Amino acid sequence: MLDKRQKYIFQKKLEELRNIKGQHTELISLYIPPNRQISDVMAYLREEYSQSSNIKSKQTRKNVLAAIESIMSRLRFLKKPPENGIVFFVGTVYNGQPKLIAEVIEPPIPINTYLYRCDSQFYLEPLEKLVEEKDIYGLLLIDRRECTIGFLTGSRIEMAAYMTSRVPGKHGRGGQSQRRFERLTEIAAHEWFVKAGEKASKLFLEKENLKGVLVGGPGPTKREFVNANYLDYRIKDKIIGVYDTGYTDEYGLRELVEAASDDLEELDVIKDKKLMRRFLNEVRKDGLAIYGEDAVRKALEAGSVDTLLISDSLNKYKIRAKCNNCGYEEIMEIVGKKEIIKCPKCSNPMEIIEKIDIVEEFIELAEKTSANVEIITRESEEGEILYKAFGGIAAILRYKGNHY
Ligand SMILES: [Zn+2]
Repeated sequence: MLDKRQKYIFQKKLEELRNIKGQHTELISLYIPPNRQISDVMAYLREEYSQSSNIKSKQTRKNVLAAIESIMSRLRFLKKPPENGIVFFVGTVYNGQPKLIAEVIEPPIPINTYLYRCDSQFYLEPLEKLVEEKDIYGLLLIDRRECTIGFLTGSRIEMAAYMTSRVPGKHGRGGQSQRRFERLTEIAAHEWFVKAGEKASKLFLEKENLKGVLVGGPGPTKREFVNANYLDYRIKDKIIGVYDTGYTDEYGLRELVEAASDDLEELDVIKDKKLMRRFLNEVRKDGLAIYGEDAVRKALEAGSVDTLLISDSLNKYKIRAKCNNCGYEEIMEIVGKKEIIKCPKCSNPMEIIEKIDIVEEFIELAEKTSANVEIITRESEEGEILYKAFGGIAAILRYKGNHY
């Protein structure tokens, strides 16, 4: 598995590649797995090269041949593929001027795809699969009135089903009819548990990567439900624990994950929660918390940061742009994707010479002083608080300083 930082950087790279569109079928993706002979790949490319010489459009032919040549010239220096394999994305893009771009990626985990594709966009699926969230936990809340089924994926909690029962309350009128009433109630409860168990088992079994199941609810019902085998045995085997929650509706799902936090220490969602709680606590008592881009940058440079908390959704970049008309150069910060930046001197579109992702910049700063880095997604409540209330950049300091 990738750590959050590797994942962040990798996903950013994929996003960049995803946004590249060729004018025609002229962008080449080449996946070479670790066990493939380079000489095989070269032979294949030579064949593709001669095939591509028949492409009718002169422009497309020129671009495709240039891309294949570029890959071949790089492969000549390789004796064998790197240990995780290697992937090439090469082609001509038109951003005003045509430009041959060549992106070479060594995947963070081994690939087993061998593939050559020439298309109007890059083929990214095998790499996208590498960074998909793998671990999923099933969530089940049950009492005699309600049942909620959900999933915890990474930091995301989502509801999958909500059901209500028709089991009457436990107390009837007493006397003869009381016993009859109780018997009917138990039959209704049994039917309710069967229905809930079947629904939960079905939904959980559909998930290939289900790592565990958490069961919750108020009172003893949830344990009776678990012990009485209403769940498929394959699901029952995956139960990590049974926990008390006050609610059995969607709100209860959060409660359940929270209640199970000691058993799920390693999960991102729990780590994020604990860290953000620590941070907010420091904010409240005006202690070791700081936030905002400038304050955190200064603290990182001073080496006083213990833990950097940064949102993965900043989408902010520091760029160096140059005007090729009048030579004017400027370093600026931009948010999101800005295609064209006009020169403030002569209004010509400027060329972006350098582009640094703020998140990556901060991670690097943190690593220089061995501060801990936590990249927090907006999928969780805590992540949303970090992004909205603190601008997405915050830190917990090692000691209290007065230089900010
Ligand atoms: Zn200019």
